[in-house]
Amino acid sequence: MALNGNNKRTCADMLCCDIDPSIPSTSQPKDKKKKGDSLLRIVTWDMIAEDVTLEKKIAQIKKMIRMMKTMGLEAFEKKVVCCTNQDTQFNASNRYCLANGECRIPPGAKYMYKKGERDVANYCIPCYETKFPAHGNKRDWKMAENINTASDVILKCSTCQEKWHKTCALFFNPDASKFVCMECGGGRSDLKTTIDTKEHAHAAAFMTEKLNELLRSRIGITVARKDKIRVCGLSEEKSIWTKALVPAIVEAEFKKKYSGKFKYVKRAFHVFQRIDGVDVILCSLYTQETPMGKRWMIDYFDSLPYFKFYDNLKSGELHQEVFHAYIEYMSSINYLNGHIWSSPPKPGDDFCFNIHPSAMKYLDRNGLIAWYQRILKNGRSLGIIKEYRNFREELEHQGGSIEKPSDLPVFVDSLWCQVMKEINFEHPNSPSEFMEALQKQYEIHATDNFVIELPGAKTPRERDTWYYSHPILGDRMGFLKKCVKENWEFPTLARAMYASVALIQYLPRYE
Ligand SMILES: [Zn+2]
Ligand SMILES: [Zn+2]
Ligand SMILES: [Zn+2]
Repeated sequence: MALNGNNKRTCADMLCCDIDPSIPSTSQPKDKKKKGDSLLRIVTWDMIAEDVTLEKKIAQIKKMIRMMKTMGLEAFEKKVVCCTNQDTQFNASNRYCLANGECRIPPGAKYMYKKGERDVANYCIPCYETKFPAHGNKRDWKMAENINTASDVILKCSTCQEKWHKTCALFFNPDASKFVCMECGGGRSDLKTTIDTKEHAHAAAFMTEKLNELLRSRIGITVARKDKIRVCGLSEEKSIWTKALVPAIVEAEFKKKYSGKFKYVKRAFHVFQRIDGVDVILCSLYTQETPMGKRWMIDYFDSLPYFKFYDNLKSGELHQEVFHAYIEYMSSINYLNGHIWSSPPKPGDDFCFNIHPSAMKYLDRNGLIAWYQRILKNGRSLGIIKEYRNFREELEHQGGSIEKPSDLPVFVDSLWCQVMKEINFEHPNSPSEFMEALQKQYEIHATDNFVIELPGAKTPRERDTWYYSHPILGDRMGFLKKCVKENWEFPTLARAMYASVALIQYLPRYE
């Protein structure tokens, strides 16, 4: 499924003409040409018949150049017929600058990289000039530009010769000569475009039902069936040494509470909606839960703006329903304590999906906190949530402070684990210094994280122990890396469709 081949051809290496019928061309025979067909014929020097004199060849080419000048070069470019987007270039994401965790190298910017470590060792130009370590050797570093040199392949229908983007065609066969466009009976795609397997993960099946229920209630049964939503769940039972979860200074205390191993389940939920015959991935939710204390955490959420548009159902409500459905499911299995850390990405950073639309709005710190507050407040009004508190309110609720770090809500790589590790990493400290530094962080993170209490169920459901782990679909970084490698990206609906079709081939098939 490699998409990196570059078949991009431009008028720089060919001359295109639709005007002079005396010029031989590679277009289809006249009898196959439909009325009004706008096909432009492609002519190169070598295609002009052998027996034509050099003077005549030159005269013909001069004539074509004159026509190009009068009509504008644009008119001669052979366009793809699949969409109005003539751009074929794939995109690049932000790169991380080594100098500082906050610094980014945006798409299009020049940067420095260490030879042999281009994917990991990068400096932005200002940091390279001012913050390059004194002991470093600048001879190992080279300049580059943060662009993606790969392009979408342009396919030519083997029947009508019309050109299509490989992504728009949803064509995955490495043999481009096999391409037949939809007009010539080629079908929507050469791979399966919809998910019709039974959902085995209880939580995902529950969320699928909830989201479709919302659709049906707003847009009616018929449209809801056509535009149906499907949540695919993947999960993995895992454990981590407690000493790897928290810094050594608090290890003994955490071991007392959690034993030597912290057991947890990580889950991925991918939400698809059927759009134009394709199940398109629209958002993903990554969570963790631990049987110790029956707690859960929202780890990551990422979305794309391609939910179908309805007058009386906004995409924000569907996103909210994804959260509410997950929370309601956790309540139904009596996992009653939740944790959310509101941590917005920097514009251009990709948490889950590789390349978002350039016009997509990113919420800032306060915007994202307000967004979570709204979801939690609505959840409480609907009775899905019993109570929620931001961290400042939680401190008050616990009598003014949390004195024992092990009473903090911890999960793998979660906010408080990161905070504790950073405190101890920067300044290895005594227990009292550590607590003092931690208390300062309580104030810094007073409003950006929440604890959530759920009402629970009188007759709880049996906990889902169906696990299907997958290195790409079940793992956020695996998912992102695979998409980057294959140039499966999401800046337009067409490219999101292509990436979705590629991704759903990995879904488990149990019947
Ligand atoms: Zn296209
Ligand atoms: Zn920098
Ligand atoms: Zn065709």
